[in-house]
Amino acid sequence: MNIIIFGKQGCGKGTQAAKLAQKFGIPAVSVGNRLRELVASGSELGLKLKSYMDKGELVPFEINVAIVKELIDTHPQGMILDGFPRNKEQAAWLAKEWQVDVVIELEISDEEAIRRILERAAIEHRSDDTPEVIQKRLDIYHHETEPLKHLLSAKKIIIIDGSGSIEAVFEQICKKL
Ligand code: AMP
Repeated sequence: MNIIIFGKQGCGKGTQAAKLAQKFGIPAVSVGNRLRELVASGSELGLKLKSYMDKGELVPFEINVAIVKELIDTHPQGMILDGFPRNKEQAAWLAKEWQVDVVIELEISDEEAIRRILERAAIEHRSDDTPEVIQKRLDIYHHETEPLKHLLSAKKIIIIDGSGSIEAVFEQICKKL
């Protein structure tokens, strides 16, 4: 089963994807986490990626799709994809590469998103969780990613209010799946 989990930063994509993975045995794959692994490796590619990520910008298309292609190829039984696509170019590429069964969209307000990201920042110390960079990431979400809501095609599209507790949101997702 191929699932896209979609929504702005802080909406709970990673948390819910992990819970779904545990319940249904479908691996949860975060593009952001994969990029952070590459940054942590200290390679030349990692350094290049970091320069975009620290500013809250999207990493270049060619590098990014090569990474996602590898993720698709290593998960032939399906996966829950978190963090992709994020713009029209990526969505058009994905439509040719991957048959999506379900899109799960989690909705929260910007205020709630900022509150949650700052809360997470105190624990995780991500270099892109500063107030300025958070704002930049949300701006990119609104301008480039959010319009994809109407473009992503799948057998099933599930829209969930992500503002409740982790368990309440998860229950809603499972009910609608
Ligand atoms: P995330 O963990 O999903 O918030 O992603 C962290 C950062 O990784 C983003 O701010 C981007 O710099 C980069 N990134 C993650 N996914 C993508 C993507 N699909 N396209 C381009 N850059 C991405």
